[in-house]
Amino acid sequence: MICSSCRREIVDYSNFCYYCGARQAPVAVSKRLMRSSVDKKIAGVCGGFAEYLEVDPTIVRIVWIFVTIATGFLPGIIVYLAAWLLMPEAPRVVVPAPAPAPGPEKPASGTP
Ligand SMILES: [Zn+2]
Repeated sequence: MICSSCRREIVDYSNFCYYCGARQAPVAVSKRLMRSSVDKKIAGVCGGFAEYLEVDPTIVRIVWIFVTIATGFLPGIIVYLAAWLLMPEAPRVVVPAPAPAPGPEKPASGTP
């Protein structure tokens, strides 16, 4: 990145310039509207809206269903399909599977 004050090259995401000490503009965390890959019932549209708006996905679904019914079904369905087509799917966060814990050794069945 370039210092906004002295125009010299500084390390990315620096808060201050090393050369002139000028405070740099905070880097905005890019928040994108994406379909949820984790919380999805149909295509993850409502889950994506919920993640974007930081609300419970169930609330988004209830509101969406209510609006869909109140508007005579078609607008809600069209908006859902449009969102499905237009919203990119969020990259799936890979959670490493826990290693299988070694179970207790089975005692050898004593044969008489
Ligand atoms: Zn500077």
